Formats: sequence, structure tokens, C-alpha cells
Amino acid sequence: MNRVYNFAAGPSVMPLSVLERAGAEILNYRGSGMSVMEMSHRSKVFQEIFDGTKAKLRRALAVPESHEILFLQGGATLQFAAIPMNLMRGGCADYAVTGNFSGKAAKEAEKYGTVRIACDTASTGHDRIPGQAELRQSPDASYFYYCANNTIYGTEWQYVPETAATLVCDMSSDILSRPVDVSRYGLIYAGAQKNMAPAGLTVVIVDKALAGHELPITPQVMSYKTLIDSDSMLNTPPCWCIYMLGLVLDWLEEQGGVAGMEQLKKARAAKVYELLDNSAFYRAHALPGSRSDMNVTFRTPDAETDAAFVKEAAERGLVNLKGHRIAGGIRASLYNAMPMEGVDALLTFMKEFEVEHHV
Ligand SMILES: *Cc1c(COP(=O)(O)O)cnc(C)c1O
Repeated sequence: MNRVYNFAAGPSVMPLSVLERAGAEILNYRGSGMSVMEMSHRSKVFQEIFDGTKAKLRRALAVPESHEILFLQGGATLQFAAIPMNLMRGGCADYAVTGNFSGKAAKEAEKYGTVRIACDTASTGHDRIPGQAELRQSPDASYFYYCANNTIYGTEWQYVPETAATLVCDMSSDILSRPVDVSRYGLIYAGAQKNMAPAGLTVVIVDKALAGHELPITPQVMSYKTLIDSDSMLNTPPCWCIYMLGLVLDWLEEQGGVAGMEQLKKARAAKVYELLDNSAFYRAHALPGSRSDMNVTFRTPDAETDAAFVKEAAERGLVNLKGHRIAGGIRASLYNAMPMEGVDALLTFMKEFEVEHHV
């Protein structure tokens, strides 16, 4: 079929069976005579898709009734502003900066209140996640913000921080990869294009009690209260992506849900880290205890060899292994939909490349 193994960080690999199902339904969705792409978002048939996807996500993550699930547009980046506008209200918030996206979120939040940096791992190239005792917390913070998985640097929080303030988390690149106790969070959000669905959908899971206190300047389309009240249909939602997320959630359930995904993600990543740690040629970027199962970042002895690695891998159908431009090196993104055969093919290539290039 000429499909490659796609290690892209996002938009990224989707389950093959999901793509096949979407393909089979693309011209005539279940007898409706039209594609989901052509449907009114106010139609009965689309409302069923919407409600179904929401119910499946609620089930997959065991989202309690206290929390609403929103299907929005604007990407994760829009939430960098929506969160402080709705939750900080001119006060202050603590931000744990462990990578590029949490840094950007902190910068954006400064426009709407006082940002206190709870930790910043920039000095060591964001190669680790600080321990609980290292987190500086303000007594008056309206929330504590962190990013669960640092997509660019390849680190992942292995614990949920204990905070007095409401917990807010960017789970863009590891949502649905493990069970989460949603009740511990005031707000969880994620861009869909890493581990859920095509680009264009942002999922926000928010404690309903937090809504309704936004800054007066908050655009209507960014007010959690308005979005909750309109059930994400203040304006046209990303219909196609919501449908695709529904298909992905069906697939996820067949694979054992988020508990099944957690086992798989650990197995995938462990294989790659084991090779890295037993090699004098490759070097993992993230420190043990902080390593991401979703994005494995590493280097060969020099940038030139990194580039050769990426090029030769692509010739073998292992594509998008180049590290993010701000981090350099190599990055293998191992999301839920990456089959183990893809990981094994990568390992085979890595061993051969090392033999060829090790001096
Ligand atoms: C990709 C990513 C973002 C940015 O997502 P957009 O949808 O492009 O705005 C934010 N946070 C994390 C952790 C990401 O991986």
C-alpha cells in the first residue's frame, strides 16, 4: 500500500482502521446521502455524531459530571490566552516552564495578570521535569499551570503536581495515552492533532464551577461560560474533526482504552530508550525519570550525522524524524497510533546506522 511509518510530532499518524472507515464513509455517511464534511452542524445526524464523540471521550477519560467537555477551534495556542482571561481575572497564576509551549503560555498570560514562574528548566535545555519540592507556589495563585508532555524536548511529567491552587494542564501530546484523574484538575486541554484527530479541533475539559468569571474584555468565542451554555456550538464547530475523534475513540476502546494505551506507550518507548542507553553513538536528550514515552529525542555524535540519519531513515520509509528546529537533533514521536512494527523498523535502522557510522 506504500504507507510509511510516520514519526511526525503533529499532525501525526492516525490508526489505519480509522482512516479506512472514514474513507468508506466519505461519500455517504451511514445512509445520509452525504459526507460528514457537507452536513449542517445543526442537523440531527451531526448532533448524533457530536453527542456520541462527547460521550465516548467522557467514558475513555472517566470525566466526572462536574466537568464539561468542549470541542473548540483555535488550537492549543488559543487556550494560552483563553485560560488567563477566564481563570486569572487580573490576579496571578503560577506557571511551570518545562519547554517551549509552557513558556509561550506564560508569556501570553502576562497580558492578563501577573505570572509567577514556578520553575524553569531552560538552563539545562529543558532536559528534565522538576520534582515536587522544586515547585515554587504562590499563596494567592488562581491556578497552577503545567504542560504534561513537552513535545519538542521529549520530557513528560511522571507525577501530578500537588498544588493548593486549581490545576490547569496542557495535555496536547499525551492525552489519551494513560488514565488521568480528571477530578484533580480545574482544566485540561489539548490540540487534537498529536494524539486524537486531524488538526482543527481543540478539546477543553473544564470544571463548570470555574466558568462565568472571565475578564470583561474576553471575546464571546473564548468565554468558557458561553461555550458551555451553547454546548460548543456558539459558532460552527470543527465537525469533521469531531467525527474523526469519534472513530479514534472507537478504535481506542477496542485496544483496551487508556489503560491499554499506557501499556503500549511504555513498551514502545522503553525499546528505544534501551537502545539509546546501551549505545556509545546515540545520546538521549531527556534525563531518566523525566523522559517522554510520546516523543523520544536524541542525537548522534554531530549535527551532520543527525541529518544523514534523518535522510537515510526517510529512504527506508521511516519519515519525519528530524528534531524540532529550536531543539535540533532527532525526534521519534510514538503516539497511540504508531504500530509496534514501526518502532521495530526504527530500531533495526538505528542499529544498522550505528554500525555504518560509528568510528
Ligand atoms: C503542538 C502543541 C501545542 C500547540 O498546538 P496548536 O494546536 O498548534 O496551537 C501546544 N502545546 C503542546 C504540548 C503541543 O504539543
